[in-house]
Amino acid sequence: MKKYDDIVVGSGISGMTMALILAMNGRKVLLLEKGPSIGGSVSRFYKNGIPFDTGFHFTGGLQKDGILYDILTVLEIRDLIRPIFLAEDRANCFFIESEGRQYEVPYGIENIKNKFKEYFPGEASAIDRYFGMVQKVCDVTPSMDLRTMFSEHILADEDFVTLEEVLNKLTKHRVLKALLSALAMCYGVKPEEISFANHSRMCMGLYHSVARIENGGNALVQAFKKKLQDHDIEIRCSRHITELADINNKKVGRFILNTGEEVSADNCILTIHPKEILKILPGQYVSRAFADRVSDFESSAGFFSVFAVLDSDFEEPDFDSSILSIFPHCDVNSLLDPAYKGEPALVIIKSVEHTKDKTYKTIDAFEISFSEHVKEWEDSKTGSRPRAYQDYKRSRVNAIINRIIKVFPQYKDKMQVVDSASVLTFRDYLNSPDGSAYGIKQKVGQINLQGRLPLRNLYAAGQSSLLPGIIGAMMSSFIVGRTILDEKKFREFIFRNLTT
Ligand SMILES: Cc1cc2nc3c(=O)[nH]c(=O)nc-3n(C[C@H](O)[C@H](O)[C@H](O)COP(=O)(O)OP(=O)(O)OC[C@H]3O[C@@H](n4cnc5c(N)ncnc54)[C@H](O)[C@@H]3O)c2cc1C
Repeated sequence: MKKYDDIVVGSGISGMTMALILAMNGRKVLLLEKGPSIGGSVSRFYKNGIPFDTGFHFTGGLQKDGILYDILTVLEIRDLIRPIFLAEDRANCFFIESEGRQYEVPYGIENIKNKFKEYFPGEASAIDRYFGMVQKVCDVTPSMDLRTMFSEHILADEDFVTLEEVLNKLTKHRVLKALLSALAMCYGVKPEEISFANHSRMCMGLYHSVARIENGGNALVQAFKKKLQDHDIEIRCSRHITELADINNKKVGRFILNTGEEVSADNCILTIHPKEILKILPGQYVSRAFADRVSDFESSAGFFSVFAVLDSDFEEPDFDSSILSIFPHCDVNSLLDPAYKGEPALVIIKSVEHTKDKTYKTIDAFEISFSEHVKEWEDSKTGSRPRAYQDYKRSRVNAIINRIIKVFPQYKDKMQVVDSASVLTFRDYLNSPDGSAYGIKQKVGQINLQGRLPLRNLYAAGQSSLLPGIIGAMMSSFIVGRTILDEKKFREFIFRNLTT
């Protein structure tokens, strides 16, 4: 039986980060991945030789000394990643159809405040107070900076109120409220359900800067692959744990894999969906309260996605990486409600992609969707879904293409749909139980599974543990790393490459 210091389960950005942190601190690590290759949601896929991103398109925090910049520095992979910053004056554009108007939101907090004050001159005080509150939450949250993550995490008052409640106190302006909640698309929870604090923590990175990464999520996966190899991390794909054995004093001694192979380790860190974690834990070690808590977690929103490419002879000189979100109206709560029947929110991401011998102008479009929308086909699997499902997909693709052409009429007859994906596609390719984009819904007052689990040498990390998005997912692994490793050594590891 092979013996490791640590087993990391799941090789998305959380698992790769976790494995690297441990191995960089001298531990012998096994990384297990259920799918055929590592990377999880950040992996790209290629169709007809054209690269498309599935679960990673843009991020905040890549500016110098930003949180992601620091994380990549500590992991010694920053030099392998090339950020492509979006246009500072219009990084996030929102077209609100009911208003017939597009709002261009820059980055840089002062820039955003000034732009909002231009759009809503009567709301200057609400705008200042909103950004003041966001800043205050982030200032008192240790996990917003690797330098402060060692302090005790104390919940802020804003952890106990929803975004909706705060906005209602600040302003009556529907459009301003919609724009201040619009980044809910980046975590998939209604303003009336997310705490103001978690909304602030999610948005802060994107308020500072918005960037894509050259070669998308694959750049991250390749950088990690290199470092995982440099640090002798053993990677096994198409593997998962089927049984925990030799449990003494609430400590697991043996881990049995789907291949029948058995391994032992001091710790096992699960960076997978909490409902998948619950399936692994033996029933006798799980209290009723724990099981109920996990079962009650709801899913965040997911997406129906269309992946398209512009004809190679189509010229558009100012075609650039950009993000346009289309909201049919200002009611963001209803847009994130599975029961909503109107036109969904749609995010259109344009990108220029270079392969070895060709350059492509790609368009990825993401319409909010939920597992409820595909419930009748939930028992089917990729590759063998019924005709009615194909019809559903076709009609959704056509509707999305029509919406793209409405805002970009120049693409009519110039755009080819290369692929599409429903919430079921995400579920099956990413081995997530519900196909949601961001794991569990982060609801106000909810206590996520984070850190130590009911068995003493088992830990939870990952996007459902702290916050979603690549920053929240990676940060969750730093927090667990701090628990597992000797604190003094861990501090030295963090500050070795970081400027103080
Ligand atoms: C359509 C879409 C768009 C997104 N856009 C962005 C974006 O632009 N920017 C951003 O920051 N974030 C974005 N996100 C969110 C981001 O991708 C995630 O928050 C983050 O990548 C999650 O990382 P993770 O490692 O926690 O989980 P995952 O990436 O889901 O990784 C979990 C891994 O565990 C594996 N696994 C599951 N069960 C087991 C098991 N039992 N044993 C072994 N392995 C298992 C899975 O196969 C998977 O590889 C998007 C997500 C989606 C779906």
